[in-house]
This record gives sequence, C-alpha cells and structure tokens, in this order.
Amino acid sequence: MRWNGQTLDSETPSTLPGLARLNNLVRSVQTPEFAGITFHEVLAKSALNHVPGASRTMPFAWTINPYRGCSHACVYCFARPTHAYLELDEGKDFDQQIVVKVNVAEVLGREVARRSWEHPSVALGTNTDPYQRAEGRYALMPGIVETLAGSGTPFSVLTKGSLLRRDLPLIARAAEVVPVSLAMSIAVYDDELQQSIEPGTPSTKARLATVTAVREAGLECQVFLMPILPLLTDSVEHLDRALGQAAAAGASSVVYSALHLKPGVKQWFMAWLSREHPELVSAYARIYAKGTYAPKEYREWLGERMRPLVRKHRLDRAAPSRVTGGVAPPGQPLGRLEVTRLPSFGPAGDTQPMLF
Ligand code: SF4
Repeated sequence: MRWNGQTLDSETPSTLPGLARLNNLVRSVQTPEFAGITFHEVLAKSALNHVPGASRTMPFAWTINPYRGCSHACVYCFARPTHAYLELDEGKDFDQQIVVKVNVAEVLGREVARRSWEHPSVALGTNTDPYQRAEGRYALMPGIVETLAGSGTPFSVLTKGSLLRRDLPLIARAAEVVPVSLAMSIAVYDDELQQSIEPGTPSTKARLATVTAVREAGLECQVFLMPILPLLTDSVEHLDRALGQAAAAGASSVVYSALHLKPGVKQWFMAWLSREHPELVSAYARIYAKGTYAPKEYREWLGERMRPLVRKHRLDRAAPSRVTGGVAPPGQPLGRLEVTRLPSFGPAGDTQPMLF
C-alpha cells in the first residue's frame, strides 16, 4: 500500500489512552518535519460518510475525510468539537493530534465498486482539510481522486491548502470523465490577522496563487470568503480588497457567510480574542449572546454590504453545479442556488454553512 514506504523518524506506541483503545490504530508517529504534531495512523473501516438529511441541509449527501483534526489550526474552525471523541480535545489536540486514515483509498475502492453505489457526488473538505500539511507526507488524495474518477463518481474539493497544486494535473484529467468542482477557502486579506487566526495555513497570497493555478489548469475555482469576522474583516475596505484580489486571481465566483461559533469553538475563539483583541470581547459577547449564529440583522446587513461589491468585481457570474454543489464547469448541469450565498443551513432561513 502507498503508506508502506513512509520513513518514520520516531514512533510512539500509545501516546493517547483513547486512541490506544482503537483496534484499528496502526501506530502513532512524530517526526521533526512536523514539530509538535502527532499522526495517529488508523486502518479505516469505511471511507464514505453519509450525511443525514442532506437534501434539506446540504448540497451533498456523501463525504470523505481522510484526516481527522487539522494542523491548519484555524481558531474559528467549526469542526473542533468533532475531535472530542477518544479523549481528544477541541483545542490544541484538534490542531496537533491528527488521525490519518492510511488505507482510505483502498477502502473507498471497495465501496464504490458495490452494485448499490449509484454514483452521487462526494464532497471532500467539509469537515477537515484534505490538503492540510499531513497530505504532503501521506499523499492520500491522489488515490481518492483516481478511485472516484475511475468509478464515475463526481466530486468536489474545498481546501485552504496550496498543496492542491500538486494534484491539479490529476484532477484536470478526472474532470474529463466526471463533474468536478474546486473551491479555495480564503477569508482574511490582512497578513497579520491571517497568521494569528489561521496559524497553520498557507498565506493568503499562496492561496490566491493556487486559485490562479486551478484556472490555468482549465478548471473553475470558487472562493469561499468565510467566515467574515464581525469588526475584524467586515469593513467595506477589507471586503472590497478581498473580492478584488479574488477576482484578480481568477476566481469564478464567491460565497460568503458570517462567523458562527458553536459551543466548544466559542470558548476557544473567545480565548484567542481575549489575547489578541481584548477590546472586542464585549462586542462579540453581545453579538453571539444568543448562541451559535450572528443575529439575523447582522447577516442581512452583511448581505447588503456584500452584494454590490460582489457585482462590482464580477464574482456573481458562475452558476452552481447541480451535480457537485460547487461551481459548474462548462457543460455541466446547473442548479438554482444563489451563487453568492450558500443554501440554507442550520436554523430556518439561515445562510451559515456547515462548511469552513
Ligand atoms: S477551518 Fe478548515 S482548514 Fe481551518 S482548521 Fe478547520 S478544517 Fe482545517
């Protein structure tokens, strides 16, 4: 298998009690190239996850997450609470204890070969980032892309990882046989803030260059301008600069939404805010006083601010794919989603996505 050739720099047999209980744990590994990070290599029993109630709340019904936890370490990451299994916490452990499904492509191959598999679209990047740094070591995505395309399964990829560029030739070939949608998540266009709130991610500049590379490979590329952070990135000046840079990079369209803070994430985010922007703590406490979502009034205000800017930068041109839920390449069936806002997620009428 692809991961058998990995050279390990050190092995730690059972660093975490919860993980050590797993009967599919192969080993836990630390290596100098990934200082502070432990990879827990597991043999996955399944690769495809079914999303319950997808037709009502999600534009996709199936997902693949080759990794759990994410070294991109975004402070606002909505997936943090999913790490609270097996005694891992949603703070530092989410950033530093990465579960790697080393056999994901092999398992996926068996799953898509079943007669019952009807080839619905599969989404990657809905929970943790498939092109996080670990992918440079484990190279799981090429096998996943080949397996999906080879079985005739459409797919979408959402990432903050410039490592996507490595696989663009392969993905471009896949797009010749199945519908494929690519999206790059770029929320912060202020380098200091970006490094502070997304400390493990490639720079905004590197991600914009990846958007350009996607377009040069002949594929559409949507930019996810989310989350928009109240009082930090919601000024006209920042949003205009963000959309201008996305457009200049070649983005096909933009989707956006305001920050939402689930329980667990909210504590982690507020601790960061207290350290980095103490002057905003009371404002955020008010904005998110009633729970996870920014108030409807704020979201409507943000929409009014965004719409003319999106039009100005001509980022409302592409239409969403009915097949993958992402941006449709030429010739692919189009859906009826409004391109600058995601379909309704969460509470009725809400536009907060369950993506990152
Ligand atoms: S928001 Fe995305 S890229 Fe950032 S830590 Fe979460 S999964 Fe990783």
